[in-house]
Amino acid sequence: MPDTVPQSVLDALRDVVGRKGWIDDEAGMEPHLVERRSLWRGTCAAVVRPASTEETARVIEICAAARVPVTPQGGNTGGVGGGVPEGGIVLSAARMNHIRAVDPLNHTMTVEGGCVLATIQEAANEVGCLFPLSLAAEGSCQIGGNLSTNAGGIQVLRYGNARDLVLGLEVVLPDGRVWDGLRSLRKNNTGYDLKHLFIGAEGTLGIITAAVLKLYPAIHAREAALVALSDPESVLDLFVRVRDACGDALTAFEMISRMPFDFALKHSVRMRDPFEAPHPFYALIELTSPRPGGALRETLQAVLARAIEDEFAKDAVIATSEAQAKELWTIREDINEAQIPEGGSIKHDVSVPISRVPEFLRRATDILERAVPGGRVIAFGHVGDGNIHFNLSQPEGADTDAFMAESNRVAHGVHDLVAEMEGSFSAEHGIGLHKRDLLKHYKSDVEMDLMWTVKRSLDAKSIMNLGKLL
Ligand SMILES: Cc1cc2nc3c(=O)[nH]c(=O)nc-3n(C[C@H](O)[C@H](O)[C@H](O)COP(=O)(O)OP(=O)(O)OC[C@H]3O[C@@H](n4cnc5c(N)ncnc54)[C@H](O)[C@@H]3O)c2cc1C
Repeated sequence: MPDTVPQSVLDALRDVVGRKGWIDDEAGMEPHLVERRSLWRGTCAAVVRPASTEETARVIEICAAARVPVTPQGGNTGGVGGGVPEGGIVLSAARMNHIRAVDPLNHTMTVEGGCVLATIQEAANEVGCLFPLSLAAEGSCQIGGNLSTNAGGIQVLRYGNARDLVLGLEVVLPDGRVWDGLRSLRKNNTGYDLKHLFIGAEGTLGIITAAVLKLYPAIHAREAALVALSDPESVLDLFVRVRDACGDALTAFEMISRMPFDFALKHSVRMRDPFEAPHPFYALIELTSPRPGGALRETLQAVLARAIEDEFAKDAVIATSEAQAKELWTIREDINEAQIPEGGSIKHDVSVPISRVPEFLRRATDILERAVPGGRVIAFGHVGDGNIHFNLSQPEGADTDAFMAESNRVAHGVHDLVAEMEGSFSAEHGIGLHKRDLLKHYKSDVEMDLMWTVKRSLDAKSIMNLGKLL
């Protein structure tokens, strides 16, 4: 593999994409070399921005012939270094951003890989439908990135991960051939379901240039509530009660422990505490329905009244307007940013079976408190999916570099516990550069061997997103 890209190859690539599709100046390339948290810095010879599947195929064909590494990039919001280049070229999907077709009767939409998620949501909305994938980065992440990371977000409980929202894909393979799998069928049992190879592959098996997405009926009723709880067991109890009473109407069930709640209160200008007293845990619940009317509110009120009567819920507020519902959600949304001014943070994005969430919270808290005395445990996340963002903020006044130097030791304790509980060390954000060693450590030899077999057979020249995931 050449260290640098020969000028003749660069010339050929620039001929394919033209001036509009070519960036090779330092300032223009800069945003493509680092991620938001700036944990990794990469290098590349150029950022290549094809405008179509055909141009993408030609670019990959040239790179494959010259064995030039290609790093696919969407909105660069991934957070695990998956889109950070290690030489070669960055292939940005940003110009492939058209909605090719919308079929409200079939409840499908065909979009190009570089479409920004929020644009897709709006386009669905315009035809009276819902595209339910929703995450805080939706204004900049792209559907190709969402599918390549099998993104989760806040409505997985009701609609599933990105993987569950796709019927077909178009992919440019690592040798430049195009696989046209853009089918919009809900039933199609004709051999291996190839699209699932590329979903969650983090750009290591090809470039997703288009996808057929599933649409759902638009939402016409929404209820949100924040409930104060005393311990992890009460969080699970409440989840089970709401799930049983509300079924499919339950779209989100988020948990927030006291510490991140306090961080958000302290640092967010948007948020105020709706309760008079502090509580150890909170649950943020959202119910939605395509049918307008007050039935959702009545059901929610009944479940919460019963939970308070039975004394495991300590207090509750139900939003009485869309504005109030938004206000409750700011509590959850502001936690990420609120951790930054509190100094170093060792992050874990884990999942365990829902039934074992309380056990995980107790045992993992104990592990962190013993690992770094004075460290502040930040537990929040999509408890309805068994997915917890379980972080440790540095002790107040501690030296950040010394604290962060303990990252591996601390994370091993948490990840070993997750493995023992048959959970996952990476529930949402994928592997990228960040968790590559963990993959090797926690996956069985058989699973690693199968992954390598797929990788080698599709990417024989080993050019696609080198050094990521595997
Ligand atoms: C504020 C914030 C909140 C977030 N919340 C969530 C959340 O709730 N749930 C969640 O799952 N994630 C979340 N994320 C992480 C991130 O937004 C998702 O991983 C997202 O799906 C990445 O999309 P992207 O377009 O930015 O991809 P990038 O970061 O550009 O790339 C991610 C990976 O996909 C590959 N890739 C990108 N585009 C393509 C393509 N067209 N073809 C092939 N491979 C490609 C890249 O090589 C890389 O490996 C959040 C991030 C931020 C900053």
